[in-house]
Parts: sequence; structure tokens; C-alpha cells
Amino acid sequence: MPAHRTPDVCHRCRAPLIRGQNWTIKAKRCKACNAARSKELYHRNPAPRRAYMKQYYKNLRAEVLAAYGGQCACCGENHVEFLNVDHVDGTGAAHRRTVPGNRILQWLKLRGFPKDGFQLLCWNCNCAKGVYGRCPHESEPLPTSFPWAA
Ligand SMILES: [Zn+2]
Ligand SMILES: [Zn+2]
Ligand SMILES: [Zn+2]
Repeated sequence: MPAHRTPDVCHRCRAPLIRGQNWTIKAKRCKACNAARSKELYHRNPAPRRAYMKQYYKNLRAEVLAAYGGQCACCGENHVEFLNVDHVDGTGAAHRRTVPGNRILQWLKLRGFPKDGFQLLCWNCNCAKGVYGRCPHESEPLPTSFPWAA
């Protein structure tokens, strides 16, 4: 058995590998070739990667929602399917332009879930605030009992 040793050229493009520059992981390829290869694999068979990302975002979402209290700050809705992180000052659209889509969840996690300026809202309350500037819940007392739960 030959001793494991660092490859000195990329097995694909033959570029010399320099640790920390174009080579950091135990691969026989440079970083660029590694990226190209995973892209190829993805195009050949995108399903596993897609399933992985779906699960990844599901978990990430659950983590973010839990960190923010798990319920709508306005009406107390606590079904995760309805909840979303909202910018209290209404700069959500501007922020989303710089931090697109699902990245916002990663953005929040990387910053240790900042509570300043963020809250959970359900789609209903979020839409009401977006369209009318306020939610009708704000003038209604929260229900304390439900007829069907008696
Ligand atoms: Zn290469
Ligand atoms: Zn709500
Ligand atoms: Zn509301």
C-alpha cells in the first residue's frame, strides 16, 4: 500500500494544486474542477441533490421558526406552514433584494437569529400589513375561547 500523499497536480486539468489556494479538500481535483464535476453530476441526476436541499431547507426553516418563538406575533398562528420571518420595520422587500429567497434563513442563522427587527408572522397577518399597513387583529382582542373546543 503506497502511503497517502497529497496529489500535486489536478487529475483533470493538470493545474498544480496549492493547499489553501485552489485545493483545500482531500480530492484529486482542483477547486474549479471539483465544482464543475458536482455540476455535471447534478445535471446527470438532479433528484438526490434536490431532495437533499428540500430537506435541508425544511430543517433550516424549522430551526429558524423555533428560534423566533414558533408562532405569529400578531394572531398566535402556530402552524409552521403559515409562518414566515417578517421585518418589523417593513424593509423586507429591500432586504430580500440583497439576500435572495431562502438565503434569508441562512442569513438569520449565521447571525445567531437576531431578534432586533425580526418577528414571525403568518401569511394572513403579513399580507394584511403589506396591503393595508396594519392587521385587523390589532383592533380585535385575541380570542380566549373557541366554541369548538368547549
Ligand atoms: Zn483542475
Ligand atoms: Zn397571524
Ligand atoms: Zn394579525
